[in-house]
Order: sequence, then C-alpha cells, then structure tokens
Amino acid sequence: MSAPFCGDCNRMRLTADGKMKNCLFSKDETDLLAALRAGEALEPLIRRNILGKAEKLGGQFGDQPFEALHSEALINRSMISIGG
Ligand code: SF4
Repeated sequence: MSAPFCGDCNRMRLTADGKMKNCLFSKDETDLLAALRAGEALEPLIRRNILGKAEKLGGQFGDQPFEALHSEALINRSMISIGG
C-alpha cells in the first residue's frame, strides 16, 4: 500500500475456490461456485457484488487517515489465496 486510489480501481478477483471479491481488501465474498452448482443465475450475484464495493480499502478502515492505518488490523485471506 502506498496511497489509496480506490475510486478508480476496477480490481476484482475470482478465487480458485469460486469466490468473487470486489476489492483485494474486501472481507466479504460472493460464492459463485455454489450458485453455479445450484443452477442459479450468476449475473445478479456478480452485479450485487460489484455494486456492494466499499468506497475505499474494502471498507475495513473507516475514515482513518491513510497514514494511521495498520495492516495487522486487516481481516482478509492471504494474497496468495486471493490471486492478487
Ligand atoms: S483497496 Fe481495493 S479498491 Fe482500493 S485499490 Fe486496492 S483493490 Fe482497489
């Protein structure tokens, strides 16, 4: 992390176990694999996931100034399991 540019970011990830993340720091995930296996339509789930993206930094740090953030407070998978 150097400086947030979340407003212009379009990073999304589909993890190897079928979960969609709308931000690398998002602790929330959408289980697309389970929906696919259940025969559900995926597009509404994908849209809801994208529209639910937090304003910045996955919504995990509130309005703290960037300089005051502590990465240890982040609740997330490791980047290796995200593919980020
Ligand atoms: S914290 Fe999330 S929204 Fe912000 S730049 Fe990183 S991936 Fe994009």
